Amino acid sequence: MQFEERTLNVLNFKTSPTRERSVKKADILILGAGCAGTSLAHYLEDFGYAGKFVLLDNRTKFNREQRWCSWAQMPESFLPLVQKTWQEWTVGDENRSTVQTSENYSYQQIYAPDFFAHFHTRWQSLETPFEMCPGERVERIEEKRDCVEVTTNRETRRANLVFDARHQGSSNLKDVKEKGGIFLHQTFLGWKIRFPRAVFNEKNATLMDFRTAQIEGVNFIYVLPYSDREALVESTSFSGNHAVRLNHLNAVTTYISENFGDDYEIKAEESGELPMTTAKLPSKSGERIFNIGVAGGAARPSSGYAFHRIQRQTSEIARAIVRREKIPSTCAPRKYDFFDAVFLEAVARNPGSAKNSFLRMFEKVAPDSLIRFLTDESTRADDLAVISALPKTAFGAASLQSLWRKFAAGNQKDGKFGASHGTLHNSLDESARRLVARSVER
Ligand SMILES: Cc1cc2nc3c(=O)[nH]c(=O)nc-3n(C[C@H](O)[C@H](O)[C@H](O)COP(=O)(O)OP(=O)(O)OC[C@H]3O[C@@H](n4cnc5c(N)ncnc54)[C@H](O)[C@@H]3O)c2cc1C
Repeated sequence: MQFEERTLNVLNFKTSPTRERSVKKADILILGAGCAGTSLAHYLEDFGYAGKFVLLDNRTKFNREQRWCSWAQMPESFLPLVQKTWQEWTVGDENRSTVQTSENYSYQQIYAPDFFAHFHTRWQSLETPFEMCPGERVERIEEKRDCVEVTTNRETRRANLVFDARHQGSSNLKDVKEKGGIFLHQTFLGWKIRFPRAVFNEKNATLMDFRTAQIEGVNFIYVLPYSDREALVESTSFSGNHAVRLNHLNAVTTYISENFGDDYEIKAEESGELPMTTAKLPSKSGERIFNIGVAGGAARPSSGYAFHRIQRQTSEIARAIVRREKIPSTCAPRKYDFFDAVFLEAVARNPGSAKNSFLRMFEKVAPDSLIRFLTDESTRADDLAVISALPKTAFGAASLQSLWRKFAAGNQKDGKFGASHGTLHNSLDESARRLVARSVER
């Protein structure tokens, strides 16, 4: 597939001047019109929800540099938004490198400004019971007996149900930090660059190249080529501390210079920070207030990837609303919580072993099994293939440590041994139990 640079179709919303407040009513309020809020609005509209719903965001422009990649099958309505797909990928370091391909799965990318422009244009041209309100910042939420009242910088709004996707500095994340458990920061900074000559293999995405300074935590470079001249080159770090911007800049410039040369032009910069935590973000903040997206725990703790889980979470919520069913509170099978807790424990204890684990996973696990594992769709056989590929000492110790943390947290909460042990044991999937058993045997 040939990548074409798209003309940015960014709608700049105008906000109406502040006026005297009256209470505005809706059936549903969605707070935050990023990936999760926009996806939920899309699914509500797509499934024919007939109530009145409002999507609001403090932003007025939706052109921030951001790309969402996923292995999972994209919903059909998103297919025209896929900017580029890769059928081949590489993971490696100074000593070894693995190239994988799959006929069943591809790594796909959506450019966020395209995604927002697509839906905003569509909604502006449609007769819907739905209102999009940019430039509206949520200041207070209060759950009343029969509704939720949301005060913003412009309005007082009331709704039967509220879906809250705000996470930047939100109390949800602060709370989980304070509750202990592991909290790593995934930080990244990337440049979309263009060379005047062919330097990239357009067909191959470099998912992890560990040939970069391992300053603190796990560090790697990610290269997504759009053509033989153009690519996104990104430095990523998983660490207990916030990585310094300067370290990422050094990593990116050094990598480009050593591998491709210096005669490039920087077209765009993308940067971000994602939480990687064993703590569970609550799916609800009240009887009528549901957290969605990253704020609702949709980011996979071991990778920070959230796009796929957000699609599953928001489409299932929309379906439940339309069918008047109970709103689901999980966005992935529980066994992945355990696997991810073990993984984070291993990274936190010994970042060097994490690099080795990634390399081994890509070397030893069949591509389709690994992709199913990474996208929450693994079978028992896939889980065991992944577990068998991991270095036993590091992961055995980490799984015990992770169990201990869970046990200690449950013990504190329940105030007795038996209840927490039973709860923990029951929450583990069969393959997770086997992993624990195997690590104990070693
Ligand atoms: C640069 C970047 C790249 C990423 N790449 C990938 C990827 O390749 N694959 C993947 O799976 N995941 C990726 N992620 C992770 C995840 O998919 C994204 O973070 C995704 O945007 C999360 O969606 P969200 O709706 O939870 O949060 P957001 O998209 O951040 O939306 C939250 C919204 O809330 C709004 N808001 C905040 N406070 C207020 C307030 N007080 N009032 C009103 N509105 C408010 C914000 O303006 C924002 O629009 C990436 C994240 C980043 C930052």
